[in-house]
This record gives sequence, structure tokens and C-alpha cells, in this order.
Amino acid sequence: GYGSLEIICGPMFSGKSEELIRRIKRAKIAKQNVLVFKPKIDTRYEEECICSHDGNNIKAISISNSEEILNYINEDTDVIGIDEVQFLEGDTVSVCKGLVAEGRRVICAGLDMDFRGEPFGCVPNLLAVADSITKLTAVCMNCGKPAIFTQRLVDGKPAKYNDPLILIGAKESYEARCRKCHQIDQ
Ligand code: ADP
Ligand code: ZN
Repeated sequence: GYGSLEIICGPMFSGKSEELIRRIKRAKIAKQNVLVFKPKIDTRYEEECICSHDGNNIKAISISNSEEILNYINEDTDVIGIDEVQFLEGDTVSVCKGLVAEGRRVICAGLDMDFRGEPFGCVPNLLAVADSITKLTAVCMNCGKPAIFTQRLVDGKPAKYNDPLILIGAKESYEARCRKCHQIDQ
């Protein structure tokens, strides 16, 4: 029969990695065959590992393109986890749909919006075709209310709308923010 597609989304610090790790650990307890992937770009912590901001971690395979997943799975693979799915190259929606059509459970975690508050990469299209969606909130670092946005700060100030992804020489950081406190320098 068919499998299912689960999406875990929300801003940075909302616990997406934690929730993915929780579901993967439970699948392993249930004796399911599990494979976990993450984009090569995410070098926040050590490679070959998904780490939450809390220090929880599980082993993962680093890939650039979602089609690489097909090189690792076999007929026994029951569950496929993907973290930071917004950074994967390739047709991630088609890859996930194919895996689900083969009867597998696919769990993707990723940012639903970029620092500007705009839909991020493949995530909006994954949400559209998902069986289940979990949208998590973080805590606004400015006022303490539930946060759905990721605030990008460059040298302590709100990032400009047209800032490139990587700014040479600038000190950039990210904070969870609510709708009221999220700022972009237009
Ligand atoms: P994500 O994958 O969504 O970036 P993680 O699972 O890596 O999130 O980290 C979630 C953890 O980050 C929380 O359990 C908490 O310990 C910590 N944390 C740090 N800053 C915040 C914040 N502003 N709101 C909520 N949790 C935060
Ligand atoms: Zn706020």
C-alpha cells in the first residue's frame, strides 16, 4: 500500500530537529528500517549527524540533491527522515511522492519561510501534498510571544530585503520573532 508524507515546519529554534529526532527514535524502537538525510550545506554542527539546538542527535547521511536518496534506500527501507529540507537541490516533491507511492513513510523537517517571511524553496509545495503537517512555533526573542518568523540580524540590525545569502565581513545571526517583532529593512 501507500506510505505517508509528514512535514514538520516552523522558524529556527522551534524544535523541528527535536521533533524529527523524536519520530525517528520511535520508528527505530518499532524495529522499522530508518534512513536519515540532511543537506551538505548544513554544517551548523558535526557532519553526518542531525543535532537539535538542545544537543540531541542522530546519525544522518549528507547529500546535495534529493535524488541521491534513491542511491541509499532498498526494499527494506520503511522510514526516510530529511532535515533542513528547504536546502536540498533537485525535485524534492517528486522524490518524496515516489517514496510514498512505494509504501514508505517520509518525514521532512524544514523552514517554511525565509528571513524575509517568504515561502522557502520546496517546503510550500511539500506542505500542499503532505498527509500531515506540524507547524511549530518558537519563543519570540523580543517579547516572549509565540514566534513563526526567523529574524536575520546583520551586525545587530535587521537584514535588508536584498542582502545576499552570505555577507563577507558582516557578523550575522538569527532569532525567532513573532509577527509584530519581525523586521526587514526594505
Ligand atoms: P529547529 O530545528 O526548529 O531550529 P531545534 O530542534 O534545533 O530547532 O532546537 C529547539 C531548541 O532550541 C528548544 O528546545 C530550546 O531548547 C532551544 N531554543 C533556543 N532559543 C529558542 C527560542 N527562541 N524559542 C524556543 N526554543 C529555543
Ligand atoms: Zn515578539
